[in-house]
Amino acid sequence: MYYNSLIETIGNTPLVKLNRLAEGIKGTVLVKVEYFNPGNSMKDRMALKMIEDAEKAGILKPGGTIIEGTSGNTGMGLALVAIAKGYKCIFTLADKQSQEKIDILRAMGAEVIVCPTNVSPEDPRSYYSVAKKLNKDIPNSFYPNQYDNMSNTAAHYETTGPEIWKQTEGKITHYAAGVGTGGSMCGTTKYLKEQNPDVISVGIDTYGSVFKKYKETGIFDENEIYPYMTEGIGEDILPKNVDFSLIDNFIKVTDKDGAIMTRRLAREEGLFVGWSCGSAVHGALEYAKENLKEDDMMVIILPDHGTRYLAKVYNDNWMKDHGFLEARDFATAKDIIT
Ligand code: PMP
Repeated sequence: MYYNSLIETIGNTPLVKLNRLAEGIKGTVLVKVEYFNPGNSMKDRMALKMIEDAEKAGILKPGGTIIEGTSGNTGMGLALVAIAKGYKCIFTLADKQSQEKIDILRAMGAEVIVCPTNVSPEDPRSYYSVAKKLNKDIPNSFYPNQYDNMSNTAAHYETTGPEIWKQTEGKITHYAAGVGTGGSMCGTTKYLKEQNPDVISVGIDTYGSVFKKYKETGIFDENEIYPYMTEGIGEDILPKNVDFSLIDNFIKVTDKDGAIMTRRLAREEGLFVGWSCGSAVHGALEYAKENLKEDDMMVIILPDHGTRYLAKVYNDNWMKDHGFLEARDFATAKDIIT
């Protein structure tokens, strides 16, 4: 048995029980391991859907160029779908993103333009603005705009939600996900709440992002916006894919807590995953400790793989330089013996 194209291998990722990290929590905690997708992240799902919807709508024509502002994973998904379908890709990224992510996109034949992180989205130098300008200037180009393109939510409504419903045999009671564009949280939650309106969703946000305050007060507070390091979640804009009515709770997680939990996922569960996975698990377990009951079943989505973070959260010196590890974590066998 074989697949006619790599894109046929997107989706149908495994659901795995958290054993050690969920000790002491009532109920069952499961994780959906999205690095099993061919681009090693859940963003393959929406990349495929955005491209196929654009083809159907006649917006993307043969030989066209796909231009997107992406933190890396969407770019990887778009690049592999573009290769299968014969399109060119140009990506704009903020300079806080891992060098690995940039290298991977270039390895996939894409052109990558690195833009400054700490400028407002309206600034002509921002990765949003540069992508929009290239789209205007380059003929036969398509700008998917993952933030406001509803094919993003639709991909998770059509695939991630039904997979989780089937895999849990309808027993899921809580769904937790980091929120960036909002597609994975809102598409999946929409499907799950349609099956069972009692399913509760927990959105994971970062310090430095506007989501939690906006949900709780309806105020877009610019004071909430400041630089942070976690990649892929939290925003300084309100993307159309974030439907606040579908997100029951928001929990903010610090860069440090997310980074430490990411390393614990690798060491204690064997799950070598990305930084936002640690944030999602840290926030979701905090919620689960207080709220889960014996028969409850929580699913946490783990968006991507750890290779993209080797020089950051998986690097001891980087962790120490950022104050994320204590000196005692650095004791080597030699320090202890002498
Ligand atoms: N984690 C990572 C690593 C991501 O790349 C993204 C996508 N921005 C997310 C989480 C959040 O997913 P979504 O955009 O669907 O909200």
